[in-house]
Amino acid sequence: MGYNRHKRCLIAGNWKMNGLLEDAEQFIGEMVANPAPESVEVAIMAPFTLLHPMKGPLDKQGIRLGAQNVYFEAKGAFTGSISAMMLRDIGCHYAIIGHSERRHIMGESDEQIKAKLHAAWAAGLDPILCIGEQLSEREDGSTNAVLETQLQVLKGAMADAPLTVAYEPVWAIGTGLTPTLEQVTETHAFIHDVLKGLGKPSRVLYGGSANAGNAHELLSCEGVNGLLVGGASLSAASFSKIIEAAGKVAREVKA
Ligand code: PEP
Repeated sequence: MGYNRHKRCLIAGNWKMNGLLEDAEQFIGEMVANPAPESVEVAIMAPFTLLHPMKGPLDKQGIRLGAQNVYFEAKGAFTGSISAMMLRDIGCHYAIIGHSERRHIMGESDEQIKAKLHAAWAAGLDPILCIGEQLSEREDGSTNAVLETQLQVLKGAMADAPLTVAYEPVWAIGTGLTPTLEQVTETHAFIHDVLKGLGKPSRVLYGGSANAGNAHELLSCEGVNGLLVGGASLSAASFSKIIEAAGKVAREVKA
């Protein structure tokens, strides 16, 4: 049995800063037609404004709700910020932490990411920690060193604190580019080994231009325990096809 093959795979949609109320209603309505197989866990990381309205309808379909970020302080004079406890309070299960857009556009540091992880755990959220190298780092052969450094935020974490890691090469996010299947397999094996060494063996998702056309081959790579999907999660039709591909892989692994 491969890395974490026994666990249910997770297909998580990251809507980023997209979606109005009517888009959410339409998406949910369309998702009803294609329920996920038992072998696949599905989640939507919605913008803050859609979390509350989507919670009830997603619950009815067994789809988990997640946020795309948390602030690391519990409460207080932090105008415009949302705490992990607020997200838990309205029914979020997951929260993305350390997405590359937050690292590279908003300048988020590993120190802040570590504080956010601990805030998420303290509030009872299940964090999805994103890591990934930039193109220049892939090209100069420092991918593993970069990922290992990013994973050091897990040092000192409780062994039983829930965790999902998403490997998202920065150069693959929103670009239509993906690593070769060999690179995906090698990099996931490396991440699983580092996680084991840190005492935090976890599910590791792949993210970066995953879509209905490549989901099956990506999910068939050893050590890929699900997908974090950006652009292709905005349409229920393409997101459902990705979920279908995950169900197919789960059946093939079982056979
Ligand atoms: C993401 O933002 O997490 C992501 C994977 O985006 P995309 O699928 O659009 O590359």
